[in-house]
Amino acid sequence: MARVRQPLIAGNWKMNGLRADALALAKGVADGVKQAGWTDREVLVCPPATLILAVAEAVKTSRVLVGGQTCHAKPSGAHTGEIAAEMLGDCGASHVIVGHSERRADCGETDAIVRAKAEAAWRAGLLPIVCIGETLAEREAGRTLDVLARQLTGSVPAGATAAKLVVAYEPVWAIGTGKTPTTPEVAAAHAHIRKVLGGLMGEAAAVRLLYGGSVKDSNAAELLAAGDVDGALVGGASLKAGEFLAIAKAVQSG
Ligand code: PEP
Repeated sequence: MARVRQPLIAGNWKMNGLRADALALAKGVADGVKQAGWTDREVLVCPPATLILAVAEAVKTSRVLVGGQTCHAKPSGAHTGEIAAEMLGDCGASHVIVGHSERRADCGETDAIVRAKAEAAWRAGLLPIVCIGETLAEREAGRTLDVLARQLTGSVPAGATAAKLVVAYEPVWAIGTGKTPTTPEVAAAHAHIRKVLGGLMGEAAAVRLLYGGSVKDSNAAELLAAGDVDGALVGGASLKAGEFLAIAKAVQSG
């Protein structure tokens, strides 16, 4: 029987890659996905904004999806340097990451801003991947579950449904550090996220919840098998086609 929630393996390329590297990476991922012939999982790459158009073109004969790493809340206007969700869609994106902890920290993005960005994604016909996660200080203070609940309550717009929302749990202390929570800790966080979403949305059983933070080839199978984990948001390890494909392969068939 097919799964209720189709696993999603998403690569966040961050501010990495010039055209030649990005196109080689995109081609490597597209070729691997074609060769694997997966129909039971989705593979998404989120290049820097300057490369979305070229990457979308490069992967168009494969099932690889393309997303943005952020968007502005407004559709147009006097916002120098910003990119509207509509512009991402116009370049071939179907998804957009919103509320990544690096943007929350570097650009002061609050839950309210993240929520407005998720609404902008809907307006443009994109699927938002809303990122949440606790800092090390919050974890050490025993506040992880409260922080996740607060971030979800502030960042998930009214009217969210399973078809319109993906949530990524990314402990800030696990991003780019090589450290990860234990599998039971990931499962507990995801169960809590699903419960909180249920309170916000009414029904959250079909919402996809991704784990992100130092996912790599060697730990992917264990993390992806944790309860309530429906895929991964991958940073550093998504920059090598072989390693990213190995993570996608680690999803159990279903
Ligand atoms: C990320 O930044 O979304 C991320 C998960 O990074 P890494 O996989 O490098 O920890």
